[in-house]
Amino acid sequence: MKILVINAGSSSLKYQLYDMTAETVLASGSVERIGMETSIVTQAVPGRPDMREVSEILDHVTAVKRLLDMIAHPEYGVIESIAEVQAVGHRVVHGGEVFKQSVLVDETVKLEIRQLFDLAPLHNPAHMMGITAVETNLPGVPQAVVFDTAFHQTMPEVAYLYPIPKVLYRRHKIRRYGFHGTSHHYVSDQAAELLGRPLDELKMISCHIGNGASCTAIQHGVSVDTSMGLTPLEGLMMGTRSGDLDPAIVPFTMNKEDLTLSDVNSMLNKHSGLVAISGLSSDMREIEEAMAEGDRNARLAFDMYVYRLRKYIGAYTAVMDGVDALVFTAGIGENSSSLRAEVCKNLSYLGVKLDDAKNGMRTKKPREISAPDSRVRVLVIPTNEELLIARDTYKLVTEQASSLSGQREEGTDA
Ligand code: ADP
Repeated sequence: MKILVINAGSSSLKYQLYDMTAETVLASGSVERIGMETSIVTQAVPGRPDMREVSEILDHVTAVKRLLDMIAHPEYGVIESIAEVQAVGHRVVHGGEVFKQSVLVDETVKLEIRQLFDLAPLHNPAHMMGITAVETNLPGVPQAVVFDTAFHQTMPEVAYLYPIPKVLYRRHKIRRYGFHGTSHHYVSDQAAELLGRPLDELKMISCHIGNGASCTAIQHGVSVDTSMGLTPLEGLMMGTRSGDLDPAIVPFTMNKEDLTLSDVNSMLNKHSGLVAISGLSSDMREIEEAMAEGDRNARLAFDMYVYRLRKYIGAYTAVMDGVDALVFTAGIGENSSSLRAEVCKNLSYLGVKLDDAKNGMRTKKPREISAPDSRVRVLVIPTNEELLIARDTYKLVTEQASSLSGQREEGTDA
């Protein structure tokens, strides 16, 4: 079965076409600058030169049409006809409290996603545009939605409620939701496999640290706490986001600097974190390069980043009454051996011991980087959210097909 995975944003759309027989990626690409005269479509196919086209793409319906043209192109496509696309899986950022797992799209699901626009105004409307665009271009093809929040729906009340007037939860559903759930879910499955132990016996802390960053306590295979909250601003220090701070800083700064709500929102989301402290960049590679040249602000940014992550590891160890495995993933987690070493340095009280040679190895494969006598196993697992979306979509579509054929058989018997 060929499954198209789509991550639709407001002005861009990323895609991967999977052949589920061996879970291989046949093609991947993106449509950028949707809504402009000079939209860019790119496509990468393993073993072939990358394709790039510039043309006017004014809306998501045209964007999906262009990507379908691309994958089924007679010269540089990978399938003969778009009829080969048997299902589409979408990444959806916010599933609120309604969606505890991935589901197939129907009218009720679309309505529920629309009702969540308030909680993710930048993301959910764009995902809906992606879903509608697929309906127009591939009528009748089943679509599934996979939510960033769903994995964290197992958190207990004690972890997801904020200590603020309860009416705010009742009226507006203000609570911790958590994000990057697809990634935390994927890497925890992979980690259990690598360790050769059942997931439901393990206490794990997964650190998804890329441009956005979050840390999750996963006990017996389910998320019991996570660092992002109502929005992806809470928790760890990030590239341009502050993460945790005293909430009183918001009104105080607004007052002192004469800022509007939108100014302060933009300050905390776009001009804080690594970029604010280093005064240089939100990109960890550039921070590390500057540090190597003796830049003190870059060093401070790096140290604060590590310090705040370590605090969460300590907190989640306490939450679970222990930890068996620590997992690093995403751009920084997968690539920065110096950051991993620094984070693990002060975890000797937990019995964490890294194997420096293994930590320094450059490979894209999932691997263990702890020493044989480390009490906590430390792993690097490259994340693959698209694969999990493709797997969930495949599962839902095949389950639906078998239940339909079951119903048909029952009908015949009767
Ligand atoms: P996103 O959250 O946008 O998916 P990524 O997971 O791709 O982001 O992570 C991007 C981050 O990973 C950037 O800060 C980048 O500098 C960092 N990164 C990528 N490669 C390296 C590397 N070799 N060393 C240190 N940091 C790296």
